[in-house]
Amino acid sequence: MLRKIKRLLMAVFIVSILSVIGAYAGYRWFRANSTNSNQYIVEWLNDAENHPNYEAVALLRCGDAPFIMPTTGFIGLFWRDSSAPYNVMRRHTALDIFGNGALGTVPVYAAYDGYLTRQDTWLSTVIIRHDDPLQAGRTIWTYYTHMASLDGSQNYISDAFPQGTSNQFVAQGTLLGYQGLYNPPFPIAMHVHFSIVTSHPNGSFKNEAVLANTLDPSPYLGFDVNANTATHPATCRE
Ligand SMILES: [Zn+2]
Repeated sequence: MLRKIKRLLMAVFIVSILSVIGAYAGYRWFRANSTNSNQYIVEWLNDAENHPNYEAVALLRCGDAPFIMPTTGFIGLFWRDSSAPYNVMRRHTALDIFGNGALGTVPVYAAYDGYLTRQDTWLSTVIIRHDDPLQAGRTIWTYYTHMASLDGSQNYISDAFPQGTSNQFVAQGTLLGYQGLYNPPFPIAMHVHFSIVTSHPNGSFKNEAVLANTLDPSPYLGFDVNANTATHPATCRE
């Protein structure tokens, strides 16, 4: 009996040690894969005036990049970013660009020539179809969202693009709307979420919320905005 108890205690001891080691390894892995974006976002939101170098400027073309910067602000969350509200298991599919201004006043522009759609149910979102300038023959989409007030009662999308707009040509630099706060269920500060989305074989856009359906915006913008390598503040690589 005593021997059985001893064996049981030993087993419990070994399992406990392994659990602690496992938890520690998991923590180290999580930390090693986490980005430090949140601390920069807080600095920017609290004191933008003293961080002018954090700001990327709308309509800027970096070198010979095909896209222009779609809005003015701090690129606070990168593509593949694992900072909150994301994590290493659920990475950010886009760029979050945080403007410095009153709600509904920071313009958002089309990053490239294309054909705009705003579905019937889309309150704060537009999507634009493009011929991929970096891969001939491929259809890609740029996606812009959160362009409404916190509760969705006011939307900040240009009157030119009412709900139900389909395949309307927009030139690069066309005003789409203004940065907003509409982001249920995780409202953060005013920003625009800008992503590049790939297509199904029939050319329709894939689900933007899935990382594998999105592209690294870095070569399109000329900025390093891939969380694997990017550092804050992202600047033109020219
Ligand atoms: Zn986002």
